[in-house]
Amino acid sequence: MQTIKAAVCHAFGEPLRVEDIHLRAPEMGEVEVTVDAVAICHSDISYAEGSWGGSLPAVYGHEAAGRISAVGPGVTGLSKGDSVVVTLIRSCGSCAPCASGSPVSCETPYNGDMGPITMPDGSKLHQAMATGGFAEKVVVDQRQVVRISDQIAKDVASLVACGVITGVGSVVNSAHLRAGQDVVVIGAGGVGLNAIQGARIAGARRIVAVDMSADKLEVAKEFGATHVVLATHKAPWLAARKALGGRGADAVVVTVGAIPAYDQAPNYLATGGKVIMVGMPHVGGEATYEPVNLAAAGQGMVGSKMGDVVIQRDIPWMLDLYAQGRLKLDELISGRWSLEQINEAIADTKTGSARRNVIVFDR
Ligand SMILES: [Zn+2]
Ligand SMILES: [Zn+2]
Repeated sequence: MQTIKAAVCHAFGEPLRVEDIHLRAPEMGEVEVTVDAVAICHSDISYAEGSWGGSLPAVYGHEAAGRISAVGPGVTGLSKGDSVVVTLIRSCGSCAPCASGSPVSCETPYNGDMGPITMPDGSKLHQAMATGGFAEKVVVDQRQVVRISDQIAKDVASLVACGVITGVGSVVNSAHLRAGQDVVVIGAGGVGLNAIQGARIAGARRIVAVDMSADKLEVAKEFGATHVVLATHKAPWLAARKALGGRGADAVVVTVGAIPAYDQAPNYLATGGKVIMVGMPHVGGEATYEPVNLAAAGQGMVGSKMGDVVIQRDIPWMLDLYAQGRLKLDELISGRWSLEQINEAIADTKTGSARRNVIVFDR
């Protein structure tokens, strides 16, 4: 048992408290990672605000990178000192989805209330998203981490733990986009910019970014959007369809959690196209669509969890693209903050910046 600093949520909607917590040693199949960088994701904020419920007190944070500082029994292929990315994708390796190559859909439950962290008095502390990354160290299952090159800066590496794999994966893995197809990406935030990058990497013919903010659309162009449409137009899909030669898109990737975006998404589709549902609305939010239109046009709607990523396959691939200059990561970071500044960093993220704020630890 060791004492570490972490940002703890005691009540939804209240500032996180940076304080001492207890972390136990890694057990069977687990590794301890000393965190060098952890990015702030909108999911962390949604949890901290209570949008999705969950157990309290809790430590959020799930996009981390660091070095392995201890290894539990039964760990293979990872050693103390290895640089790693830590993800929230905890997979058992043996349930039906895991065995079918879909670890993001692992059906073996994980109880974060029984995880490796506790309050100093021994009471329950929830390890949110199987990670609890807003902390100096984490203990996670070995399958949640991917070894990476020491050459890659940890703040950059932390980004591929969630936002980047979700965005790029939504196009490459969930939409199975072929080179030459047309894509609409709704929302040019952290995930949206990466869906745009994914479409560029996959060889999309035209990539239309749709967002409420003209500033974000300018950034979208830097990431590969060939056309941009302001979502504040009365019928933005008409402008998008025009940009796509009148036909609509083969894939419409919804990267925001806004219900109107989901209501409107089918309007952007070409015959045979698919809506890829990535953004997570608040619990209870309902969107409507006309099944007859989808059925008659052979269209579909597909949920995309974490970009259907297989981390051991996709993270090394994406970091190689980064090293080759084909995937933008440095440009995704808007600010670097200390753990003590986490509430300011969260407030800055909530202003709607498209890019990521990253908590970095100076050691
Ligand atoms: Zn995330
Ligand atoms: Zn499983």
